[in-house]
Amino acid sequence: MNVMETDIAVIGAGPAGLSAAIQAARFGAKVLLLDENKAPGGQLFKQIHKFFGSKEHHAGVRGFHIGQELLQEVQRLGVTVMLDTVVYGIYEGLTLGVVHQGDHYSIKAKRVILATGGQENYMAFPGSALPGVMGAGAAQTMINVHRVLPGNRILMIGSGNVGLIVSYQLMQAGAEVAVLVEAMPHIGGYGVHAAKIRRAGVPIYTSHTILRALGDKEVAGAVIARLDQNMRPVAGSERELSVDTICLAVGLNPMTELAWMTGCQFEVVPALGGPIPLHDHNMQTTIGGVYVAGDIAGVEEASSAMEEGNLAGIAAAESLGCLGPDEAKAQKDIYQNRLMALRTGPFGEKRRLAKAHLLEAMKQASAGA
Ligand SMILES: Cc1cc2nc3c(=O)[nH]c(=O)nc-3n(C[C@H](O)[C@H](O)[C@H](O)COP(=O)(O)OP(=O)(O)OC[C@H]3O[C@@H](n4cnc5c(N)ncnc54)[C@H](O)[C@@H]3O)c2cc1C
Repeated sequence: MNVMETDIAVIGAGPAGLSAAIQAARFGAKVLLLDENKAPGGQLFKQIHKFFGSKEHHAGVRGFHIGQELLQEVQRLGVTVMLDTVVYGIYEGLTLGVVHQGDHYSIKAKRVILATGGQENYMAFPGSALPGVMGAGAAQTMINVHRVLPGNRILMIGSGNVGLIVSYQLMQAGAEVAVLVEAMPHIGGYGVHAAKIRRAGVPIYTSHTILRALGDKEVAGAVIARLDQNMRPVAGSERELSVDTICLAVGLNPMTELAWMTGCQFEVVPALGGPIPLHDHNMQTTIGGVYVAGDIAGVEEASSAMEEGNLAGIAAAESLGCLGPDEAKAQKDIYQNRLMALRTGPFGEKRRLAKAHLLEAMKQASAGA
């Protein structure tokens, strides 16, 4: 067993983890950044489209370019990056159980920042286990990372931003998106993304769902139907589609397994994807020294993941005495303000309220402790 020590261990090298590592290292902490993949960046390297928002939020820059910029900064600041590294447990005294390139490590950290991201929800229906049914994120990884087209004629389920963006990217890669169906009576994602795929000729059927996938050994088609206002299929509205791939874009949930192992308290917040570790303004959980940032702290977007990572990195460095309270406050105010700016508009407002609810739950948990 190899033994290592560090000031701050950051688990997950997506936008949240990279940003947290940058901030903590910037103020002089010894930082170890761990990720199970062979390349850092988390979801960012799959995002080939330009981001929205302001200059601070990298608007107009493609996701993978943002990833490259963050990586350069991580390297410049001398953060130790361990890839192909799965953190399988957190034990007494913030000791991490780790497998790095096949070897076991025990890593003792003074602070731990969990930035493990989120994962896709699944959906069960007759035929959903057939080859050809996959998460939209998996399809995105196939086209944008591995350059493999998952199929030729796609049925996309779900009109959130993931469903809309991945539909467009599948078309850019050469597939045909036959139909996008959405169970709700309205589109879930940004209108601009929906307009783009409509212009490209993809019909979007709201108040519709999949009833079953067709095929013996792989997907050979699908049956969809209209839903009534009680979300029940309308008899006689079934339609058979000729498709070879069914992509599910039905939401994401936070990857919280390591957080559960720390014993920290949770609150179920459906607007943020499910059970979320309670955390304060510093992104610290109910367990001292354990911080969260990004999708694990509530599924939002890459921009907010970066800002939460910035906050967690500064707060963890502050708690180790790397910077004083006044400087830390001034720094944290910058990122808090940016987060507030992101959490505006109809989508952002919902998340702002959900986050405010979490903070309130955290206050009550701290008062009761
Ligand atoms: C399919 C899909 C499409 C998306 N499209 C957009 C978009 O267009 N625009 C946008 O702003 N956002 C988009 N998002 C959301 C955005 O990617 C996320 O909000 C953002 O990446 C969250 O950043 P993160 O750092 O929290 O997590 P991630 O980027 O998911 O990074 C987490 C990292 O932690 C690693 N990890 C997890 N557990 C462990 C462990 N135990 N040990 C070691 N490593 C571990 C993971 O492998 C991963 O590399 C999309 C998400 C998905 C899934």
